[in-house]
This record gives sequence, structure tokens and C-alpha cells, in this order.
Amino acid sequence: MKPLSQMSLEMARSIRVVLTDIDDTITTEGMLTAAAYGALERLHRAGFLVIPVTGRPAGWCDHIARMWPVDAVVGENGAFYFRYDRERKTMQQRFWAGPEELKRNRAKLDVIETEVLASVPGAALASDQAYRMADLAIDFCEDVPALPEAEVDRIVSIFERAGAQAKVSSIHVNGWFGDYNKLSMAKTLLADGFGMDWEEAKNAVVYAGDSPNDEPMFAAFPLSVGVANIQTFAHRLTSKPAYLANGHSGEGFVELADLLLRARSA
Ligand SMILES: [Mg+2]
Repeated sequence: MKPLSQMSLEMARSIRVVLTDIDDTITTEGMLTAAAYGALERLHRAGFLVIPVTGRPAGWCDHIARMWPVDAVVGENGAFYFRYDRERKTMQQRFWAGPEELKRNRAKLDVIETEVLASVPGAALASDQAYRMADLAIDFCEDVPALPEAEVDRIVSIFERAGAQAKVSSIHVNGWFGDYNKLSMAKTLLADGFGMDWEEAKNAVVYAGDSPNDEPMFAAFPLSVGVANIQTFAHRLTSKPAYLANGHSGEGFVELADLLLRARSA
């Protein structure tokens, strides 16, 4: 990971799309600061496509797509994207799975939930689970005292033994049935919503993140940035971001936004 300050202005100027994780990348210790939200707004106003790509639930994503200064949002680690058309006043939604499949998957996730809660003391159902449509989120660090890493690994293995995918974010283990992740749905959105094929997207996108559920994005996009707190997870990452911000969480994201805006006005 090279220091973000070493990204050339020329390279920064090639970026037109900002894809970003939310938790601990834009937010800081669980809160969205004015500076970080302002950075999203400044990028959006300057004409960048701004798209959060998060593990957060559909209920939150409906709000984000509608009210934040963003062009769309990918949620539940790639289960769907939402894009609000402000002129037509319509919420465009695309899910990886159809309603019947979501229902079947929910029944299987309920079984996993029971097993995790019975066998991993201290783990809890994430407080935002009620607003989720496709996945199961187990809290190991948000509203419960942080669990040791071995317990986080146990949660992951319970999902995997049941044939589900599982990804670790900075606060939750998210698990789901289906061959998708943040990357596959981000690609679908860029193609569907913005007419960008992969060749074009690859060279126009920067991705910002902080944890293992961001790995598919770090691996795919040549221009990727980790905020400084990603170093806590460095040992769990096989694909690391190309650049490392100096600032933690929201401050690191502001650093990236400032660089992009400076490059564009230079
Ligand atoms: Mg995160």
C-alpha cells in the first residue's frame, strides 16, 4: 500500500466514479461526521458519480439512495442496488435474487442464526437485521463488546458449513446464499445504470474501504484506497488496496475527496 499522497494528480484526474464503503470508511466511530458527509456532497456537486457500496440493509439504502448526495447505492454486500430518479420520482431497484428465492434463503439463514446465537456466546443479531432483505448480520463489535478474532472465525465457519458465503466487516459478519458480492453488483450497476462496461469502469473508478468485505473491490479496481484503520485488518487481507490514506475512517475519506477535487481543478 503506497501513501495516498503519492497518487499523481494525473492518475487522480482519470477518476470519475467514487465507490465507497460506509462503516469506518465514511463514518468515524459509528457516526457520520459533517466533514465526511460534506466530502460526499462536494464530490457529487463536482460531477463525480458517488456510490456507496455497503453491507448495510435495504431499509437504510432506501433512505441513502433517496436523501444522500449520491447517485445510487449497493447494499447488503451486493444483494441489490437502489437508484433514485429525482426527476421521475421513482426508486429503481435491482436484486440479485427474486422474491421466492429470497424467501427460501431466509428460511436457511434462520437456521444459521439459531446455531450462531446458541454456540457463540457474546455474538448477537445485528440491530439493523429487521431492515435486511437478503442477508443475516451477526454483530461482533457494534452494539456488543468486541469478540475475540477466533470467535469471529467461528461465526464465519458456521455460515460456510451451511453453504453460505460470509464476509467480515468492521462490525458484523454478514452471511448470505448466492454467488454475489460487492463487486458483482457494483459492476451490474455501472453497466445498467451508467452504461459503463468493465474496461471503462476499471479505469474510471476509485474504491475506498477499510475491511475484509472490501477485498473483492480492492482486488478488482487498480485504483483503490484504504483508510488508515485498515491496518487493523491487514493480516486478514489477501488483496490490499493500492493506496493507504493517512487519516482514519471519515478523515481518510475526506483526504481522498480533497485529492480528487484538487486534481480536477488543477
Ligand atoms: Mg467498513
